Order: sequence, then structure tokens, then C-alpha cells
Amino acid sequence: MNMVQSGKSNYIAGEWVDANDFSENRNPSNLGDLVGLYARASIEQTQQAIEAAKAALPEWTGASPQLRAEILERVGIELMARRDELGELLSREEGKILSEGVGEVTRAAQLFKFYAQEALRVEGLAIASIRPGVRVEVRHEPVGVVGIITPWNFPIAIPAWKIAPALAYGNTVVFKPADLTPGCGWALAEILSRSGLPAGAFNLVMGRGSVVGDLIVRSAGVNAVTFTGSEATGRSIRTIVAERGGKIQQEMGGKSPLVVLDDANLENAIDCAIGGSVVSTGQRCTSNTRIIATPAIHDALAEGMAARARQLVVGNALDPTTQIGPVVDQKQLDTNLRYLDVADDEGAQRLCGGEILEREHPGFYLSPAVYADCTNDMVHVREEIFGPVVSVLKAGSYEEALAVANDSPLGLSSGICTTSLKYAEDFKSRSTSGMVFVNLPTAGVDYHVPFGGRKASSYGPREQGRAARDFFTNSKTAYTNPL
Ligand code: NAP
Repeated sequence: MNMVQSGKSNYIAGEWVDANDFSENRNPSNLGDLVGLYARASIEQTQQAIEAAKAALPEWTGASPQLRAEILERVGIELMARRDELGELLSREEGKILSEGVGEVTRAAQLFKFYAQEALRVEGLAIASIRPGVRVEVRHEPVGVVGIITPWNFPIAIPAWKIAPALAYGNTVVFKPADLTPGCGWALAEILSRSGLPAGAFNLVMGRGSVVGDLIVRSAGVNAVTFTGSEATGRSIRTIVAERGGKIQQEMGGKSPLVVLDDANLENAIDCAIGGSVVSTGQRCTSNTRIIATPAIHDALAEGMAARARQLVVGNALDPTTQIGPVVDQKQLDTNLRYLDVADDEGAQRLCGGEILEREHPGFYLSPAVYADCTNDMVHVREEIFGPVVSVLKAGSYEEALAVANDSPLGLSSGICTTSLKYAEDFKSRSTSGMVFVNLPTAGVDYHVPFGGRKASSYGPREQGRAARDFFTNSKTAYTNPL
């Protein structure tokens, strides 16, 4: 196996592996800027990666928690030290603004450092048996080979929050990043390749979901699959993994509501409504794209949101004055434009935005759109757009707003802006989403607590924090009769 000179290679069984096919990673802020060529793994190479991960299991499963902690800590330290450089790479390939790119790399570093410590805390339970003299233990053991499939919108944080706990709990990894944004995944793999892991404990197989991802999903050699991506892809792969007896965890789309009550602080509500939706080009699963306002605040909120959105500077992600970067690619831009047409046709009132913008370099620039007079049965309000589009709905009362908020097949996150403790507490209890926010945007989470949704947004155990142990280990109950 030779190191390829023309592009970035895959990493299989501790070696960099050449390929015949490469994806062109282009900067959505400047289509003339080629970020790099990234090898697409073949079926055979993906199979080799799975076999390498299987072969590495005894060594890595048997490695001391101290060694695992040191390796993960080393990765976290390097990510933190290189956050500016890798943040720029992230912004170049994904299009989020530089401060967000650097912030995301910082988050990836924090995740590795957190799971370095968790590697030392793989606790079990010793509990009295109901039978006299018998001892009962509950242990948490590695699941085995973990297949990791990730989307393009958080190209380093999501891989980090899956790879770090997988390795911390003694599993080996086959990682497939999104074909659109393989650069950050490759950079992370390069750091992991120098971290002291045994050969085969971590493998990178870049390429298409329909080829590389499909084999990971179908292979009996992959004991568990953790997937983040769209609801449609998630649904299609869930049954395949379940039918072959694999373990599966999925985080998928969102259409998160933000309820704004008459007693809310208006400025804070505008911050939350705009900061949690169209910022990051609307390319966050947790974006609060449905704003549900009660009558006395509705008009001021909608006008304030439109005024704020008009002021946002859309431009090159690497320009420090830019507040919203480009849409990630032509396909997503086409999707956004199609939904804007749908919203116009179904009678929503476009207060601002939704226009293609010209900038110094050709790129996928779209101004953020705010819609008013929306209802919860409109297609653009029910379906995830994943672009800089936010819809404002009116509700007659708190109870009606809560009912509208919960009326969605998705349930990733939800929020409420209110100064009433009574309504805040009630909303936290009765919201049917997995994460609830009060006087905060619904996007923006901590890494040391559980992350995940309900209904069609998620499937299986939670990610992040200590909750990650549920997926990345299997529990075993041991009974001993000490004779
Ligand atoms: P996607 O199209 O579903 O792709 C996600 C990943 O799955 C990619 O790596 C993709 O490969 C791969 N894939 C596609 N088809 C596959 C198949 N048949 N078998 C195995 N793998 C396959 O999603 P996306 O467009 O990248 O990401 C946007 C979506 O992710 C949005 O819906 C967003 O809400 C969701 N998301 C959710 C969360 C969360 O935590 N809930 C976080 C971020 C994003 P390719 O790259 O080759 O297509």
C-alpha cells in the first residue's frame, strides 16, 4: 500500500491507502478554491477496514484505561493547539464563518479531553443478590467494531463526539465522514494516526454513502452503527442494522419550535429567534425554525426578526466581517429555493430575504428569509429545510402555542421565551422534544450532558456526556456463588 501523492488517502489497518477515485472538496464561499482531493474507498477497502477493526479488538479492548486516556488526551491537546488552522479548513470546506469553525474544532478538542477522563471511569455496579450468599455485578463491556457515519454540517464535532467515546470504552472504529466535507475527518484521522493507537483500532474510509456507508451498515463484522444525518437516510438504514442484530443509534432531522409568550423580553426573543435559526446558514439540526408567538408580541417580534435578518452580513466564510456564510452546495441551495417557492405559494408572507447574492467570488450565497402569517400545516413549516429560512406562526394562548410546538413528527429540541416561571416549568415538562431551552436559542448545547431528540428525530441511546456509555458498551450481569 502506497501513500498517494495526488490527494488525501484513506487510513486502513494503520496505513495510508491509495485509491482510484477522489472527491473534489470545493470551498462554497469561492468555487475556484479547491480544498483538496479526497480518496473514495472501494468496497474491498471498506471490507479491509472492517476486518482490521475486528483484528485490533483484542489489543484495544484489553488496553489499560490509562493508555486509552493518554491517547485521547493527546488528540484533544493537538486539536486545541491547532484550532485556528483546522477551524479555517472547516470554514473553507463547509462554509460556516471562521469563529464558528474555530469554535467547532475547540468543541472537538473538549470532547476528546472529556472522554479521555471517562476512559478512567468505566464503572460497574455491585449489588446484593436476592439469594443469600450470591454476589451480583453489572459490567459495561465494549460493543466491538463501531461503524461511524456522519453528516457534512458539523464535520469535526460530530465525528469527535462519536469517535472519542467509541475508543474510550474500548471499541475499534470504522469512520465514514460525509462525502461533501471529508477534510476535517481526514485531519482528525491524521492526528489519530500519530496518537499511539494500535494499528486497526481506528480506520478512515471516505467515500459515498451508497457505497462505503452501505457496506458499513450491512456488514455483520460491524457490531454497532452510530449515524447522524437526514431522517430519510436514517430510516432506510435502521431496519438493515436491526435485522442483522446490530446495535444502532441515530440522530436525525429537526424542525424545532420556539414559543414566544407575550411576557417575553422582546430583545432576547429576537436574539433567540434569529440566532437559533438563520445564523449558521440555517444548517443546524437543532435550529428553531418554527417561531410560535402569542398575539400581543407577535407583530413586534416578526418585525424585529426581519429587521435583524436584513442587517446580517452574508459573505465569504473566511472574511471576519461575515455573519452568515454560504449554503454548503448547489444541491442544498436548490432545496432552499424550492422551499421558498413552496412558502410563497402556500400564502406565507415573506418579510425579507431568500435572494441569491453575488459576492467577490462565485459561491452559494443566499440572504436569510423570514416568513410571517405561517400556519403549522404549511409544507415549509412541517418539513426540515436546512437553510436560512424561519417561519413565524401566531397562537392565541400558551396552551395553543404548546400544542402547535408539539404538533410535529420531529422532536429534537424546543424552546420558550417567557419571564413566567410557571410557563417555563410547564413547557419543560410537557414539550415532546428531547432537549428544551428557556430564554435561549434551541441550537447550542453542552458536551458533558446527554444530547438527542424524540419521535422521528432520534433512535436509540443518547449521545455525549456520560450517557454515551449506553451505546458504546454492552452491559453484562454476573452472578457469583463464592464456595
Ligand atoms: P445524509 O444525506 O443523511 O447523510 C448523512 C451520512 O450518511 C453521510 O455520510 C452520507 O454519505 C451517509 N449515507 C447516505 N446514504 C447512505 C446509505 N444508504 N447508507 C449508509 N450511509 C449513507 O445527511 P446530510 O445531508 O449529510 O446531513 C444533513 C442532515 O443531518 C439534516 O437532516 C440534519 O438535521 C441532520 N443532522 C442531525 C443532527 C443531530 O444530531 N440530530 C446533527 C447534524 C445533522 P454521503 O456524504 O456520501 O451522502
